[in-house]
Amino acid sequence: MNIPLSQPDGRLSCLHTHTLFCDGKDDVETMCRVAFEKGLWAIGFSSHGPIFRKTGIKSNWHLPDERLDEYIEAVLTARRRWEGKLAVFLGLEVDYIKGLRSAMDPDIRALNLDYIIGSVHYLVPAGGNVAAEPFTVDGSPEELDRGVREGFGGDNEAMMHAYWDAVAEMIALGGFDILGHVDLVKKNNQDGSRFNMESEAYCRRCAETAKAAGQAAGQAAGQAAGQAAGPVVEVNTGGLNRKRISETYPSVALLRLFREQGVRTIITADAHRAEDLDGHYDFARQALREAGYDAV
Ligand SMILES: [Zn+2]
Ligand SMILES: [Zn+2]
Repeated sequence: MNIPLSQPDGRLSCLHTHTLFCDGKDDVETMCRVAFEKGLWAIGFSSHGPIFRKTGIKSNWHLPDERLDEYIEAVLTARRRWEGKLAVFLGLEVDYIKGLRSAMDPDIRALNLDYIIGSVHYLVPAGGNVAAEPFTVDGSPEELDRGVREGFGGDNEAMMHAYWDAVAEMIALGGFDILGHVDLVKKNNQDGSRFNMESEAYCRRCAETAKAAGQAAGQAAGQAAGQAAGPVVEVNTGGLNRKRISETYPSVALLRLFREQGVRTIITADAHRAEDLDGHYDFARQALREAGYDAV
């Protein structure tokens, strides 16, 4: 990723956005205009990358395979239109789905995107019920209940471990620039009824994830001969903007672990509407401060 994470004048960006091409509510031009009006220096488009052709998974919230070219053209047209006023970057949010989809897939590499957000939404049941479909951890509680029942014999703790396993596999595989909403598994566990987020097991998974991200960033930095490189962690305010959770992804506690590993961060809104483009950014800044970061 050759995108500066912040500007000397302190202006921020939003590199995690969705439009009408996937599950967002506004078009590319509206997103650019509002980003400019809000004083952001850059906007990046990160439509949910197509999955059907590669995985056979049906979804109504991903960019359809047959609209990929149109999406790219729309973003590149916006880049030309906003030149000199707002930087416009072309990206995708690419799912890691065990054995089925990753940012390393040739069809993704061939696109030469400005950046890629790597995200885990789907879980594939571990070694168990092959009849069970991959399911999302951030969909409705009912979908998650069904996935846990059919794929993990009703064991939410096993589902939690499978989530962090998937994140670890995604980091090890690489190919992405921004680690997306890294503790998304907490979304449907706000009351702690599925698993204990203060348990030794959960905290250990968080620490392992931070360490793996730190190592990946360190390796990439080494390869780029001193240049800052490697995955950065997004401080994602999407859950706050959509009133689903009362904190950022990741939590302050997890951010602290990333800081200890020297992992850099970027604030994003995971905006599905133009009005959310800088939503809860002050909240995110505060979370970063609490975690000991003094820069994004
Ligand atoms: Zn996502
Ligand atoms: Zn997103």
